[in-house]
Amino acid sequence: TTREWQQLDASHHLHPFTDFQALNKKGSRIITKASGVYLEDSDGQRILDGMAGLWCVNMGYGRQELVNAATQQMQQLPYYNLFFQTAHPPVIELATLLTEITPPHLNQVFFTGSGSECNDTVLRMVRHYWASKGQPEKQVIISRHNAYHGSTVAGASLGGMKGMHAQGGLPIPGIVHIDQPYHFGEGQGISPHEFGLERARQLEQKILELGVDKVAAFIGEPIQGAGGVIIPPDSYWPEIQRICDHYGILLIADEVICGFGRTGHWFASEGFGIKPDLMCLAKGITSGYLPLGAVMVSDRVAKVLVEEGGEFNHGFTYSGHPVACAVAIANIKLMQSESIVKRVNETIGPYLQRRWRELADHPLVGETRGKGLVAALEIVQDKRTNQRFPTAANAGMTCREFCFNNGLVMRAVGDTMIISPPLVITEEQVDELVSLARRSLDLTAQTLKG
Ligand code: PLP
Repeated sequence: TTREWQQLDASHHLHPFTDFQALNKKGSRIITKASGVYLEDSDGQRILDGMAGLWCVNMGYGRQELVNAATQQMQQLPYYNLFFQTAHPPVIELATLLTEITPPHLNQVFFTGSGSECNDTVLRMVRHYWASKGQPEKQVIISRHNAYHGSTVAGASLGGMKGMHAQGGLPIPGIVHIDQPYHFGEGQGISPHEFGLERARQLEQKILELGVDKVAAFIGEPIQGAGGVIIPPDSYWPEIQRICDHYGILLIADEVICGFGRTGHWFASEGFGIKPDLMCLAKGITSGYLPLGAVMVSDRVAKVLVEEGGEFNHGFTYSGHPVACAVAIANIKLMQSESIVKRVNETIGPYLQRRWRELADHPLVGETRGKGLVAALEIVQDKRTNQRFPTAANAGMTCREFCFNNGLVMRAVGDTMIISPPLVITEEQVDELVSLARRSLDLTAQTLKG
């Protein structure tokens, strides 16, 4: 029974990013199966998965093509490593396919098991790159406050989450943070254009402060996901690109969330017009069916690594796992055969964005924003001033609970509510999502405003 699952879960399982005491008071929700965009829990409740799992189940649940790819590869070759100057067909085929769908200057791939491992990899790779070029003192990576780059020590250090830094003495040396381009939260009173330029130019100031001979790279999510779906003003990324080019530092795009069609482009870097030297991919690469990460490496970086770098002392047992690669190949082919990126760009994305923006008239909503199939709204106490509720009111979590109880997964980041549904969602399901969101906002308003 659900109660028995919950008791065993509480007794033996420490959940990620969870306050154990709070969870154990309530008991976890046991998800037992899923199909399309819907989850089902152990009480038989159907829940529309507005988060595609954790931003990853892009092609939806229950895709037989992916199950078949995994089954066949498990039978053929369930595992082999890549350390002994060895390779296998799925890893070679996937590397080739990825270089075809990513921008033309990215022609080499380093595989990992997750997004966090991608970011550990880029940290070591950029330092190795500069050392190989005879500039080993170029070590510092500049990132942003409130960025999320994963949960390993390097990933959490590159990330800018205060709560994560507070636990375990992070960040590790050689990583510094500048401010994020969060216009709603930090730029009120300034035009988005000016604000975007001001935030981008903090990169230039930081490079000059540290000395260009010390700076290796800048890393950023094209749209910050876990930080609250922060979409930078249009002026931001071109200015970042200009600064990276001007000072010759490497640009790393963490596309772990934004990649694989989420924003209406195969990769969000294309939409923002940036040309990253390294690009981190995970999540949607397999639609979350198996863990896999990939670092796309530009010709500029690969040339140095291959011709001057010697051995790169880095890799994982599960780098390029054959079953995960087989699923990724099947997933990408499915995305191509269903023209899913075009669909997000031209039909379902604009439809969701139009319907989502209708929520802006709700008394609790200070802003709605989004791109493709990712969106956010800001819960405020006072719509005229955008003043927030007191933290103790827990507005975001209250709304999230109403959503869950009413059959919708919508995530709360503080008082920012975010969605990132499977890319296969239909217009009818978007209507359902928006009406469940509105209903949950109504209930939240009743609870908070009495
Ligand atoms: N980078 C970004 C932008 C992410 O959003 C995430 C996870 O949410 C990660 C890295 C870490 O990926 P993983 O959880 O697969 O290690």
